[in-house]
Amino acid sequence: MADSRHHSRRAPAPNAYDATELSKEFEQLMRTKRFNRLQENTGPRSRTRSPTPSSHMSPPRVSYPPHPSRTPPPPPTAAFHHHPPSPLPSQPPMPSCSSNPALKGLPIMPSPPQDPASLKFRNLLQVLSVTPTKYENPGLLDEALALIPLDRLYSEAEEESQIMQAQAASVGGKPEWGYQDCVIKALLRWFKRSFFQWVNNPPCSRCFMPTIGQGRTPPMPDETARGATQVELYRCSEPTCGAYERFPRYSDVWQLLQTRRGRVGEWANCFSMFCRAVGGRVRWVWNSEDHVWTEVYSEHQRRWVHVDACEEAWDQPRLYTEGWNKKISYCIAFSIDGATDVTRRYVRSPARHGAPRTRVSEEVLLWVIHEIRRMRRETISPSDRKRLIKEDEREERELRAYTVAGLAAEINGLLPSGSTNRRPEDQKVPASIQDGAMEWLNARQRGSGHSGSDRSRDGR
Ligand SMILES: [Zn+2]
Repeated sequence: MADSRHHSRRAPAPNAYDATELSKEFEQLMRTKRFNRLQENTGPRSRTRSPTPSSHMSPPRVSYPPHPSRTPPPPPTAAFHHHPPSPLPSQPPMPSCSSNPALKGLPIMPSPPQDPASLKFRNLLQVLSVTPTKYENPGLLDEALALIPLDRLYSEAEEESQIMQAQAASVGGKPEWGYQDCVIKALLRWFKRSFFQWVNNPPCSRCFMPTIGQGRTPPMPDETARGATQVELYRCSEPTCGAYERFPRYSDVWQLLQTRRGRVGEWANCFSMFCRAVGGRVRWVWNSEDHVWTEVYSEHQRRWVHVDACEEAWDQPRLYTEGWNKKISYCIAFSIDGATDVTRRYVRSPARHGAPRTRVSEEVLLWVIHEIRRMRRETISPSDRKRLIKEDEREERELRAYTVAGLAAEINGLLPSGSTNRRPEDQKVPASIQDGAMEWLNARQRGSGHSGSDRSRDGR
């Protein structure tokens, strides 16, 4: 698995015996060896494409190679084993919203792409949809796990989870989040505060002074071999030094485990993979206005939860629109189980924060999403497929409810007070615009470097 994808990345070797090539060979050899060893150790491990809900109720990492030294503590019982029958008790039933023509969510008939623009957009989504499939590599996930201070994260998660349980018990309700959610929250804190580094201009590696951007430069063979699709060039601002600093933009998660730095693209890609490594079901969300983030499935709440590693934001889907005043046209979530248009989760008021959806007709978009789902679900069992369809339907109801609530709020003239929100997560819109947000707004830097896609452009 690791083998083939790295071979495919290999640049044509101009000189078969140069040092770079040799060290690369060695690195590859070690990787293959580790991968083989893993397979020997664990036998035909069933790394299910998408863990069933029951397997998710066990402690994280249950399907991964055993690391006795890093066995998670038993999860708090109540939060973990008792899923209330109705996870969203405050959600009103939505029997007739589709009959109201004023609302979105009218039945749309999927229609195949035919014109050049539609075909181009379909290609883009197809290319993007591959991103989360790259995480499904036992060697990669194991390497990621080895970098995580699991003991610490598990005990943080247990503590938080127990506090929530105690609070819930005192008012006779259920805890807001489950243990598994708390593991991801702990992972998020660690990733942002201790592991990954934000880079605007990389410092000079000779004298550590700030550098000045010089534009792009073609990748060198070894950078290409390690998956860099583009390289930014910087020059040291210290006149007596003047050294050049290269900043390759990697989309390869293996590489990001080494470099541990980048901008939004690298952050979202690497963090999504870490969520997978600790046993979460993960989505990599692409936004057409040049942003990417993560969604993790909460078994406790039975819904997908927004997670933005750059902002250390947990379940704040309105951050971009109501927090940053961003206008958004498309947010498409990709997972190993397919694709979903999740725009309505992030744009609660299309009138205020929706950007025109002109890339493709809604009929074609739906067709492409169905196509990606079909492709990803081809080899799974019928029962898994059924479960995913149920999930899709449940999510559709959730998204529709956001639209209805948004409309109701607008009708009542209550936006943007936030007082009409139905659910706790709706109230967590940060008031302040953080540095990262400003950076994003100003520079529009993302560059998650999807090779071949038309989104490889980048700022600075
Ligand atoms: Zn310097």
